[in-house]
Amino acid sequence: MNGTVIPATGQEPTVANVLLEDGRIVDIGTNVRPHGNAVEIDASGMYLMPGMIDSHVHMAMNGGVESSTSVETTDAYAVLRAARDMARTLGAGFTTVRDLGGRNGMEFALRDAIRDGVVPGPRLLLAGSLISMTTSGPLMYPGMYYVADGCDEVRRAARTQLARGADVVKVFATGAAFCEGEDPRWTQLDEDEIRVAVQEAHKQGKPAAAHAEGVEGIRNAVVAGIDTIEHGDFLCEDDETIELMRSRGTILTPTMLLYDTVLQHLDDEAIPAFVRQNCEWIAPINRRSVQTARDAGIPIALGTDAGPPYHHHGGNARELALLASAGLTNEEVLESATRVAARAVGKADELGTLEVGKCADVLVLGGNPLDDLDVLIEPASFQWILLGGRIVGGTAAERARTLHWLTTA
Ligand SMILES: [Zn+2]
Repeated sequence: MNGTVIPATGQEPTVANVLLEDGRIVDIGTNVRPHGNAVEIDASGMYLMPGMIDSHVHMAMNGGVESSTSVETTDAYAVLRAARDMARTLGAGFTTVRDLGGRNGMEFALRDAIRDGVVPGPRLLLAGSLISMTTSGPLMYPGMYYVADGCDEVRRAARTQLARGADVVKVFATGAAFCEGEDPRWTQLDEDEIRVAVQEAHKQGKPAAAHAEGVEGIRNAVVAGIDTIEHGDFLCEDDETIELMRSRGTILTPTMLLYDTVLQHLDDEAIPAFVRQNCEWIAPINRRSVQTARDAGIPIALGTDAGPPYHHHGGNARELALLASAGLTNEEVLESATRVAARAVGKADELGTLEVGKCADVLVLGGNPLDDLDVLIEPASFQWILLGGRIVGGTAAERARTLHWLTTA
């Protein structure tokens, strides 16, 4: 296919032909010609960029106002609904999605079914159960937690998730704004406990992610060697921790959409009052931390935390606008959703840029997202969505399918 290639490598966009073969990008250039029986996609006048990556969602949650996993009574129902939600997320241009806390392992079945072509969806990367100290969280989110206290239990917890096939180990370094009875500034797992989980993940070449809102917990996780700080709300409060993250290259995943979505529905009394209060309180601090991190040169990855109240799967791209509103340039926003997110999920060699050798996850867009991020937020502008070289969505793809149907009917 031909078009303006936005490689997301930091290099300038260029008009070129892109050759895909066996799910990979095999050539990019002006003199690239397709082989004899290749399928050609004419994308002249269009823009090509890497498929987007959401590095933080919860398929176990359906965007319901209760902010709980207990609403859907069976894992079987939850996984069918999650399959629909992942199809929607893929249709929104997200070709890779990382789940950071599932439900009794139903997410592994969905990951494997999508991989095998049983149902449509993005490439899934999973944490399995999130690892937490004894706390009130499991009462609100049954099926999502693995409770572990002390280094030995955390080691067993991490190994258990990895043995199930987890792609990342997720730990709780602080309390959570969405857990009743917790304060997001309190620390949870201690530095030595987090370090054990990080070691187990790294032994398998996989990343470790920490839920960390308060600054003391952020520091514990960073010192313990964590790869990504999820939320990082109170980071702006401590210059030393900011410098620590910068010097170590620790990635921040600010999940701005998590708080902003609740802010849009503050008058809905069906959302637990403590959730609404926490979001109102934390959103501006979270925003300040994004600005501070960006100015300090801390890498920022896109992660939305989709699943909590009104935070429906498929609306993930709205995070792009929030990151831009916090001071990231359009180019930085695009890279947070591609190259940086690929690093965050431990797949920098495979995903996140349009380069020879990478997976053929490509978005073909009607407009230039570097001029206007709305191109990525408005589903109609996706002409073609390719996942591993297969056409999986886009308006032009739909049209082509209809035409094919009309001519063969
Ligand atoms: Zn989360």
